[in-house]
Amino acid sequence: MCRHVAYLGPPIPLADLLFTPPHSLSRQSWAPLDMRGGGTINADGFGIGWFEDPKSEEPIRYRRESPLWSDAGLPALAAAARSGAILAAVRSATVGMPVIESAAAPFTEGRWLFSHNGTIAGWPDSVAGVAGALPVRDLLTLEAPTDSALLWTLVRDRLRAGDPPATALCAVVAQVRAAAPGSRLNLLLTDGETIAATTFGHSLSYLARDTSTVDASVLVASEPLFPHPGWIPVPDHVLLVANPESVTITALEGAAP
Ligand code: GLN
Repeated sequence: MCRHVAYLGPPIPLADLLFTPPHSLSRQSWAPLDMRGGGTINADGFGIGWFEDPKSEEPIRYRRESPLWSDAGLPALAAAARSGAILAAVRSATVGMPVIESAAAPFTEGRWLFSHNGTIAGWPDSVAGVAGALPVRDLLTLEAPTDSALLWTLVRDRLRAGDPPATALCAVVAQVRAAAPGSRLNLLLTDGETIAATTFGHSLSYLARDTSTVDASVLVASEPLFPHPGWIPVPDHVLLVANPESVTITALEGAAP
């Protein structure tokens, strides 16, 4: 369904993810290659979160409910804005969920940027119990009435409680897959220093370049953005934790479908 991408490394123009490469996020919004039956195009909004400075307290976020390719002003902005920590996503709304700006990833709080590619099966009844354990205030202020916004609220609840990002993602996947079997839960989370991601029903690849040099970088993306022999497909049902120096992949506990 959605396509998402995260980058950590030396500053690059946002356009290097969004527009310039042959299979840029913009191209993935109208010609994705590996949707695994979850939708056709990703035209229901998009969002970009990026750190202007590595020490910024919060990222800058730009979201729209329209297709990425239809934002006439964005290519120039994306060519000028540079960052060493970026998360961007294009959305294909699940049937029955509203097409509104606030439903587009990245969802954010503090330095956190979050995206979900997939769907919660049986929404909303399947996860009513899981949602009911959240603080009432969080439910009253859910950013959008969508599965992705609920997943972010569940992850955020654990981050606020002090869980490391990988722990928070694994716990939420375990909780939701138990309540809603058949869900697709590719989650992507960064604080500008580390990327944590799960694969659960959708595609993901990564490319680590110039590791152990000052130019070290890592890209994690639903689909490779450009041809390069270093892209590695991530198996399904794993947790990936990456920074420019290292990438680790571990099985999600009890991750059989
Ligand atoms: N269920 C998500 C939504 O409607 C879809 C995200 C995706 O992967 N398409 O926002």
